[in-house]
Amino acid sequence: MDVAFENRKLEKRLCRLVGQAIDDYHMIEDGDRVMVCLSGGKDSYSLLDILMRLQRRAPARFELIAVNLDQKQPGFPADVLPNYLKSLGIPFHIETQDTYSIVKRVIPEGKTMCSLCSRLRRGILYRVARELGATKIALGHHRDDILQTLLLNMFFGARLKGMPPKLVSDNGEHVVIRPLAYVPEKDLIRWAEVRQFPIIPCNLCGSQQHLQRKQVGDLLREWDRRFPGRVANMLKALQNVVPSHLMDRGLYDFAGVRATGRPQADGDLAFDEEELPAPPGAEADEDGDETAVAQPPAATGRRVFALTPAD
Ligand code: SF4
Repeated sequence: MDVAFENRKLEKRLCRLVGQAIDDYHMIEDGDRVMVCLSGGKDSYSLLDILMRLQRRAPARFELIAVNLDQKQPGFPADVLPNYLKSLGIPFHIETQDTYSIVKRVIPEGKTMCSLCSRLRRGILYRVARELGATKIALGHHRDDILQTLLLNMFFGARLKGMPPKLVSDNGEHVVIRPLAYVPEKDLIRWAEVRQFPIIPCNLCGSQQHLQRKQVGDLLREWDRRFPGRVANMLKALQNVVPSHLMDRGLYDFAGVRATGRPQADGDLAFDEEELPAPPGAEADEDGDETAVAQPPAATGRRVFALTPAD
């Protein structure tokens, strides 16, 4: 196997998937100042890396500023990210706030610290975004994070709710974007190896990974291994919702259903089994790898960030 060729293919695929997600959801516009949240993990390093590549070639002009929150966890190597970011020559800001001590003081020993920790982190990052004049906050969640959230919400929250590619923040002040929304985690794992990112371990706080999230992640990985393409189709399903075939009375007017006397393309098939056609865009990409690429939204044909196969 030609390693350099494989790496180049991976780079092209990552740029294409990120560019396509940005275009599909209008994540970045001309003149944006995008605050890229860096944790020191493979996902956020990859996010910054790919956005920098797109910044060089996309016609839209936008700024990137990398931000890391040093939460004063024991053993956090405070010099790793500044050194890395200086070597890139990119604007950055390190915000130091000892949320670790607060969480340790407030949460009883043995109880999970994540919910208070992430609430504190969110508030600080919103303030930093305001102070930096950021117009978008970019997070490193990827396809598998989105699908895990979907399943967790179904299993434990009884809601059909995933993780949005773009949404207003809960305080209403910011627009949060997830440019890695189409990217499978396995590609990010490989990209982190290729790029030799200086990864900072994510267990410095001593908290264990959320058990249910780990179980759902294992389940998706196992499915992806045994039945390639099905996990990618789950993401496409989130982009092809048929409200009349779900049961949310807020999304579809079941009370108003009447016979029309005309054939209905999406009408009920009565006793027939549902046929299972391939969903739109289910094919492998031109590299032969299955991708989670959406169809461009019908409302717009605007492609600014997405690369053509020739790029
Ligand atoms: S794993 Fe640690 S750093 Fe992450 S949210 Fe939980 S307590 Fe905070």
